[in-house]
Amino acid sequence: MRKYYFLFAVLCSAIVFAQEVSKERVTKVLSALASDKMKGREIGTPENDSAAFYIAQRFQENNLAFCTGDSYLLPFEYKGKVAYNVCGIQKGKSEKILAYSAHFDHIGSTNKNGDNVYNGADDNASGVTLVVGLSDYFKNANPDFSMMYMAFNGEEKGMKGSKALADTQNLQSTFSKISALFNFEMVASVSQFGKNALYMTGDEFSDFDELLNANAENQLKIYPDPYLGQQLFYRSDNVSFVKKKVIAHSLSTVDMNVAKHYHQLNDDVNIVNFDNLTSIINSFGKTIQKLTPENFNPKYNENVNLN
Ligand SMILES: [Zn+2]
Repeated sequence: MRKYYFLFAVLCSAIVFAQEVSKERVTKVLSALASDKMKGREIGTPENDSAAFYIAQRFQENNLAFCTGDSYLLPFEYKGKVAYNVCGIQKGKSEKILAYSAHFDHIGSTNKNGDNVYNGADDNASGVTLVVGLSDYFKNANPDFSMMYMAFNGEEKGMKGSKALADTQNLQSTFSKISALFNFEMVASVSQFGKNALYMTGDEFSDFDELLNANAENQLKIYPDPYLGQQLFYRSDNVSFVKKKVIAHSLSTVDMNVAKHYHQLNDDVNIVNFDNLTSIINSFGKTIQKLTPENFNPKYNENVNLN
């Protein structure tokens, strides 16, 4: 009898609770996005569309609802062509939303002989993989917060996709329910702060990082942006939402002072630390599971520029 009870308990926990994401899954998703077949995912190319479709399929696999309309793919116009952002949502116990985002486009390929694809494994297949990984993690959970997952297009051409998405009329009431937006940007390496650590842009503008660190699991830790001179807070997709007064920060692991792969042909799958990325996904999952609208309600201070 006890044996059956145990089996029943195991089955229930598989149905109701969040589950750890495997390194195999993380490797598979990142490698697909950064494969030569995607030809560097430049906006306006069929391969950029393929990347959007690939992300939409992962959202479907995880039973996300559409953010608006009847598709995860939200079209916008780029140079006379249709390009897509990708957006999915999971209802939680509260109407309040935690949003996760990353840009999926990159800078394409060249005509040179040899390796001519800018695979963008770190920039930013890694960030998208983290977003997909979180939707994997919460697939069977019933979190306190509702969850919104977004993959932006056209970042490399001036944050076109995040601007278009942030301006989408039908989504304004949804955006007004966002308690915080986590924008992930280049998270493939172990940061200068060690494993399971990221830095956050604009930490001086809100208490986002303090509140998150207070609930951190598995030694996950968010550090202040060490590259303050670069004004990264205002140079990433999060800013499209900052302008909507949403608490939105970018989180990264890349060491801007030593990275040799930024917008280079060697930004390839072989530079990705999959152990660390998997650990970051599961640590975020475990941490976020503890967050409620009561214990996580970050606010900007007066130093932020919302325009
Ligand atoms: Zn880039």
